[in-house]
Amino acid sequence: MKMPDSGTGWAELRETLIARRQGDAKWREGKTAVYVFNAGPDVAEVQHEAYSMYMSENGLGPLAFPSLAQMEKEVIEMALSILHGPGDATGAMTSGGTDSITMAMKAARDFARAEKGLKGTANIVLPQSAHPAFDKAAHLMDIEVRRIALKQDGRYEADPDAMGEACDASTIMMVGSAPNFPHGIIDPIAELGEIALAKEVWLHTDACVGGYFAPFARMNGVPVPPFDFEVPGVQSISADLHKYGYAAKGASTVLFRSKGLYSHMPFDARNWSGAPMTTPTLAGTRPGGAIAAAWAVMNFLGVEGYCEKQGLVCETRERAERGFEALGFEVLGKPLLGLVAFRHPEHDSFAIYGEMYRKGWFTSITVDPPSLHLMLSPKHAEVIDEYMEDLRISLETVAAGKQGEKVEARYN
Ligand SMILES: *Cc1c(COP(=O)(O)O)cnc(C)c1O
Repeated sequence: MKMPDSGTGWAELRETLIARRQGDAKWREGKTAVYVFNAGPDVAEVQHEAYSMYMSENGLGPLAFPSLAQMEKEVIEMALSILHGPGDATGAMTSGGTDSITMAMKAARDFARAEKGLKGTANIVLPQSAHPAFDKAAHLMDIEVRRIALKQDGRYEADPDAMGEACDASTIMMVGSAPNFPHGIIDPIAELGEIALAKEVWLHTDACVGGYFAPFARMNGVPVPPFDFEVPGVQSISADLHKYGYAAKGASTVLFRSKGLYSHMPFDARNWSGAPMTTPTLAGTRPGGAIAAAWAVMNFLGVEGYCEKQGLVCETRERAERGFEALGFEVLGKPLLGLVAFRHPEHDSFAIYGEMYRKGWFTSITVDPPSLHLMLSPKHAEVIDEYMEDLRISLETVAAGKQGEKVEARYN
């Protein structure tokens, strides 16, 4: 498409935008269980209005927009208040989990250079199930990635001893997930913390998908093991607001145990023709809308609202698990939050995935071991029975050898 010679009216463009959604996944009807977190129309309205109100303001300029600086400060304080942040803890908002992880790694590397005499190539030690954002950040910063196999006991958890053995003098970070994305399982962060302290290695908890879920699940009585700053070895945490924080997209938090650790994150640029520029995270311009929407949703829901939403998600997952078991599927490990992976011991899980895809369900897969994957939202409480009925039919189709063409399942 080349740039049009003259403009088109908004009314017509608006119609075009609506029409272009036709081929997209039907998330509004609860047909997706990946990419979108649907907490209902009241939360959507708050996101929408708060985002619009601060859409033009720029978080790059806290002096110009003290409103945004104050909102970001309060978002971080609220985050630390549910994640056992000690008195000296602090953090920043970022554009998303990848940004938070990249910045935590940058801080850990610069900490190691400044405080531990790190020279040459650094490395990070992480479980096989950790998110590829770590590999991307490592690629950018020329850091070596050491992925360690999970414990082979059917729990899909990190292997703390093997991870400890993989550390050496150049290890700037160990990683545990709470939970990991592929299996939805929380790693043994307390054990990782002990090893990290003994080896004097920075432990990062990747709570991108669980940071705003696990604390409320625990308040609801779910036996969530310690995973946040409650564990002494945890030095930093990534927790995404635009996932189970139900904020508008473009909002995550990266948190540090102390201001001293945080101080290795910001970048101070003075050697250029312009005004001195200090930025806490990777971004220059930071969308005011994402900050305002996150602040508004957190205050709209409060602890009670989050407990209610996450309780509904846990209930839906438990209902789904009972349904899977009744159909002969097995759930991978013991998930406690909103993610669940499951497979059939006799029939091809990806063929079943293909049948579900043809019925309009857009979900994810797990490759190791081959499984179907759901990341549930409050909206799914309304459609889980329909999903289960389609799953029953899809399983029958595959068991009878009548499946259609293979669907290639990719994350993107
Ligand atoms: C989503 C996710 C990330 C990356 O977050 P983005 O916002 O997609 O960049 C990292 N870790 C885990 C466990 C995640 O679920």
